[in-house]
Amino acid sequence: MGRIAEEYGTLVFNDHTMQELLPSATYKALSKTIKQGKPLDIEVANVVAHAMKEWAVAHGATHYTHWFQPLSGITSEKHDAFLDPQKDGRAIMTFSGKALIQGEPDASSFPSGGVRATFEARGYTAWDPTSYAFIKDEVLCIPTAFCSYTGEALDKKTPLLRSMEAVSKQACQVLGLFGQDVPRVTTTVGAEQEYFLIREEDYEQRQDLMLTGRTLFGAPPCKGQELEEHYFGAIRPTVNEFMKELDEELWKLGVAAKTKHNEVAPCQHELAPMFTISNVAIDHNLLTMELMRTIASRHGLVCLQHEKPFAGVNGSGKHNNWSIATDHENLLDPGKTPASNLRFLVFLTAVVEAVDDYQDLLRIAVASAGNDHRLGANEAPPAVVSMFLGDELDRVVQAIITGEEEKTVDAVYMDLGVDVLPSFERDNTDRNRTSPFAFTGNKFEFRMPGSQINLADANTILNTIVAKSLKNFCEAVDGADDFEKAAFSWVRATLTAHQRIIFNGDGYTDEWIEEAKRRGLLNLKSTVDAAPHMLDPKNIALFKEFGVFNEVENHARYEVKLETYAKLINIEGQTMSHMTKRKIVPAVSAYAEQIADTINAKKQANSKLKPKADLKLLEKLNDGANDIAEELEELDEALEKAQATEDALEKARVYHDEVLAAMGRLRTVCDEMEGIVSTKAWPMPTYNKILFYC
Ligand code: ADP
Ligand code: MG
Repeated sequence: MGRIAEEYGTLVFNDHTMQELLPSATYKALSKTIKQGKPLDIEVANVVAHAMKEWAVAHGATHYTHWFQPLSGITSEKHDAFLDPQKDGRAIMTFSGKALIQGEPDASSFPSGGVRATFEARGYTAWDPTSYAFIKDEVLCIPTAFCSYTGEALDKKTPLLRSMEAVSKQACQVLGLFGQDVPRVTTTVGAEQEYFLIREEDYEQRQDLMLTGRTLFGAPPCKGQELEEHYFGAIRPTVNEFMKELDEELWKLGVAAKTKHNEVAPCQHELAPMFTISNVAIDHNLLTMELMRTIASRHGLVCLQHEKPFAGVNGSGKHNNWSIATDHENLLDPGKTPASNLRFLVFLTAVVEAVDDYQDLLRIAVASAGNDHRLGANEAPPAVVSMFLGDELDRVVQAIITGEEEKTVDAVYMDLGVDVLPSFERDNTDRNRTSPFAFTGNKFEFRMPGSQINLADANTILNTIVAKSLKNFCEAVDGADDFEKAAFSWVRATLTAHQRIIFNGDGYTDEWIEEAKRRGLLNLKSTVDAAPHMLDPKNIALFKEFGVFNEVENHARYEVKLETYAKLINIEGQTMSHMTKRKIVPAVSAYAEQIADTINAKKQANSKLKPKADLKLLEKLNDGANDIAEELEELDEALEKAQATEDALEKARVYHDEVLAAMGRLRTVCDEMEGIVSTKAWPMPTYNKILFYC
């Protein structure tokens, strides 16, 4: 433990380091910027930059980079040396305030969803001083936002920061009504990251894994996850070594990696950090994902972060635990006293309303080609968004909704406050693992995000929709004589109006999907079904109202979502076609030839022999080869059609309806052949080999 404490955050230019290294006036000015979101003065920036550089160089850094998150969602970096050659032939190390505050990457190769075409070709990055700079691989990384010169956000971080502002402003107003004067409210996130670890030697023999992150072929293994022995099971030595190194590297970077364990599927694991402020939590999650990949390679392993690397066993998700807090209080903590309970009820109700009104946006936030394999596949929440509150809280909500008519609002409220809430048992809340959005004691756990996703989108949306409900609340109680009464009436009316979104049963059943339909809840099955809702007038208006996206920015994200989807399926389709032609077809033929030779050899050796089994196998191989040829042709045709389709939505639809469907059929016939071709003759490692190693 001593060592952890000593090494924790040593590679981060954090508050402690700043206090130590910055002149006190500079430290104060910077703290103000960080705490209140004030712009940073260039004079201050110069001093900070110098101290940062000295510190970074002392820790072995030679370069710096603005570390940002373009619309691809993956972090980007361009390294610049601190080097400054002098006239006399020597060189010094420099880093200016200007270089700290703003950078200018060549923006033209990042997806912009048409923003750049409409506006200005260049983009710039701007330091997000609320997320500390850190050193990674001898490079000082400065977390930044990325915008076009006309101010449009070209990244994932800018809208997230805007949404945090929006929800802070509304929450402060609500708290003001409760008599609390709070300058800032923050949203917090704890991201549980699932991933697979497989052996490098297997990975390298699977072009599908290398090019697409998932297996496009593969018969089910003889043993899957049915024995349920992997979840929380003892961690194998190689994996353990990997996890230890990962923890240590993360701790140095100030990422509070806390929990690690084996997950449900063989070779699947999870890492959960301690929660922190949303933008930092997301930076940390991206950093974690990157370190997982690089550290795995030092152990002869490959870390797969795709949502569904293997068919037939669980895929990987990324639970987004979310709450909202002042600097000393979690506003989603039910608490014990009636007064603070009313406040809790208001925040809870705001979330209920937000999730119901904007189911579509939450669904869109997690929609991707990879995640489409999980949602609704009986291993992850369904594609229908609903909320789980747990028995205790549900009782409270039901009591509020059905509150007997003869009782005054006050009486119901007092009953609830005194009798029900104090008996609230936090641990009873979280035993429904099938819900997409579950209240877990003092936070909500959004379980739909996929393992590969950048959580900025989900949190941008969560923050914005909750801001909207909090604003609705403020408007509803505005000018009321009796605030508490008005607040409680809003809670009751709002819960009543939105109770359809609350579902405490098993989300994996078909009955629920039927029931959800009756309730009028959306069931957006795929990315292609979900994406068009981004352009619904109510959603455009919402983002505009809170200054999170203007219409151009919103449209850009819609374009990028469809474009990315189409590109990914195109790569998958092409990889599949290529592998079928170059590996599977030759393997099936060669094996058929081998069997034919065997038949002939047997007959030659003894003409009376009847090689029935061999003949049957040969027939199967021959039929299989024919089926493969047929399905392959269909896949190629579907790919051609999709590639030739112009309109972005239509194109994505062709990829979904025709290319994916053809891929599924081709896979089926290829996997059948895998089942009968000898291990030696099969051209790639199978699930049995990949998923079970020591
Ligand atoms: P689970 O039971 O889902 O496996 P845990 O209860 O261990 O998970 O915690 C899950 C995550 O929730 C952790 O990352 C934790 O830090 C985070 N978490 C706890 N409280 C909050 C909060 N107030 N806001 C955001 N995340 C939180
Ligand atoms: Mg969880």
